[in-house]
Amino acid sequence: MENSIERHSEQLSNVAAKLDAAEQSALTDPLTRLGNRRAFELAQSSSELLAATPSLALIDLDHFKDVNDALGHVVGDAALRMFAAELVGLLPKNALAFRTGGEEFVVLYPALDRRQAAAEIARFAKHLEAHNPLQMYPSPPLAFSAGVAGPAGDTGSIADLYAIADGRLYEAKRSGRGCVITGTDLEKDAAPEGLNQARTAIAGTLEAETVLAARLAEGQRRISPLVRRLARSAPNQRTDLIAQILAAIGEHCGADRAYIFRFESPHVMTNTH
Ligand code: GH3
Ligand code: MG
Ligand code: MG
Repeated sequence: MENSIERHSEQLSNVAAKLDAAEQSALTDPLTRLGNRRAFELAQSSSELLAATPSLALIDLDHFKDVNDALGHVVGDAALRMFAAELVGLLPKNALAFRTGGEEFVVLYPALDRRQAAAEIARFAKHLEAHNPLQMYPSPPLAFSAGVAGPAGDTGSIADLYAIADGRLYEAKRSGRGCVITGTDLEKDAAPEGLNQARTAIAGTLEAETVLAARLAEGQRRISPLVRRLARSAPNQRTDLIAQILAAIGEHCGADRAYIFRFESPHVMTNTH
């Protein structure tokens, strides 16, 4: 009798262990061993997390399709695994990381406000530069964009924060990738490479436009007397005047002479003079 009870209780605890393992595996992403989307959904209703609204970071790897295209899916898979391991290695206490989609990850920071969470993500971005999963390949380093939402400033459920972070992630992609965005402002400290590059590029464009505008105005001043003469000229004087105008424009631009092109369509030009 005692033996039979022992046997049954052993069988029951085996079944319980198998159920635990099955439940665990249903919540785990097999590639990275992070919690999967279902685990993230479960975490949203966790009373521990809901006691204090966490900050949430939504991370999406940049140009990951290019990694697969250039190096193959096996290397792509390995890069995802290494990325996840580096992410988990740097998580602050109590934070939880999930792989919610192909090259998309979510981190919940129960104890941090959104600016602290953004600083954490920026710290991870720097770390990833030094521990780049693709460093042995002739390929651009693995980088990511992220949107961060949370207190103070953002309110709502975790699902609401996810939607806010998603909008900011797209803003980060549009800003040139490789940066973290939280709030309505671009976080300078939280954006090491990509955003600073974008800022420099924008400043360069503005500078180039200012220089160009000044040169155009100067060019206009130089040729306007000739253009006025052209407007009043007799038909037999026009060819000569047009040649003078083109020579003046050419000199202004540092070229031998200028040409007049007519755009037949955005890509087809005709040289008319
Ligand atoms: P963006 O910077 O705009 O996010 O560009 P992207 O190329 O990262 O984004 P896109 O959505 O165009 O492509 C995502 C790629 O992620 C395409 C898909 O093959 C790859 N991917 C998704 N899941 C996996 C996976 O499990 N393994 C591998 N190797 N690749 C994956
Ligand atoms: Mg994606
Ligand atoms: Mg991507």
